[in-house]
Amino acid sequence: MAADVMMADVMVAVDVGGTGIKAGLVARDGTVRLRRRCPTGADRGPAAVMATVLRVAGDLAAAARADGRRPRGVGVVVPGVVDEDRGVLVWSANLGVRDEPLADRVSAKLGLPAWLGHDVRAGGVAEARHGAGRGARHVLFVAVGTGIAAAQVVAGRAVAGAHGAAGELGHVVIRPDGPGCGCGGRGCLEAVASAAAIGRRYAELAGGPADASQVAAGVAAGDPTAARVWREAVAALADGLVIGQALVDAELIVVGGGLAEAGETLLAPLRAAVKERLTFHREPALVPAALGDQAGCLGAGLVGFDHLEVAG
Ligand SMILES: [Zn+2]
Repeated sequence: MAADVMMADVMVAVDVGGTGIKAGLVARDGTVRLRRRCPTGADRGPAAVMATVLRVAGDLAAAARADGRRPRGVGVVVPGVVDEDRGVLVWSANLGVRDEPLADRVSAKLGLPAWLGHDVRAGGVAEARHGAGRGARHVLFVAVGTGIAAAQVVAGRAVAGAHGAAGELGHVVIRPDGPGCGCGGRGCLEAVASAAAIGRRYAELAGGPADASQVAAGVAAGDPTAARVWREAVAALADGLVIGQALVDAELIVVGGGLAEAGETLLAPLRAAVKERLTFHREPALVPAALGDQAGCLGAGLVGFDHLEVAG
């Protein structure tokens, strides 16, 4: 009994990204230990990605036991359309996976309960509970990176939607005559204002390749082309955030993802542009994410503990 009480419960947490896997052991209080990283290697095909996820999760469960901790389950988060109730990854363009019963496969292999979550929703939960959204009840987390996605988090829980596809703010059409989008649409927010879109737009105007962080540096250095590209992207993002705010009435919008690393170069003009567009809606505080690229892994652990509680 005493030994059992001494054993600290942990959740094996795995964030499977398009390029990298971030994993660790998450405790109930939100601390993360034994962090692990490895490439996803999505180009190897879905079977190889799945094998890597199983290996990483298995290694961490073993490491937890060796460390005198009790792994209570496995939380895995992925990008794409996720059926959280059934633990099925319905479709992930980034991972090239369709209709994968991921939670069942992890559970069968490791002999532990396993749950599947959506990477941005899990990241939003982590930011809301332990990061930039602490203390706020209504948080809209917006991840702006290669793509754009959002998570509405209310009282620490993310809204998944009827089909696991809530929060696709990146595919709201804001420039109907704008560039084509990976989803098949045209003028989606993601096609205009993601980090990838900013890089493409700069290359189009300046004739040379650049990524979004270089464009941000160009803004600070007074490059007029960079300033123009940035202005266009900020205007589009503000249009998108105002739509988000009209739908969810957040007290706090947390901006994460790679583009948020530009800090106030992004947030200061974005705040001004959002304020200018709002009519009767209350202005949300606009803050940078606090957890960086660790939000998904922490969120995976929290998703696991949440399910464990429901299961009793
Ligand atoms: Zn789209």
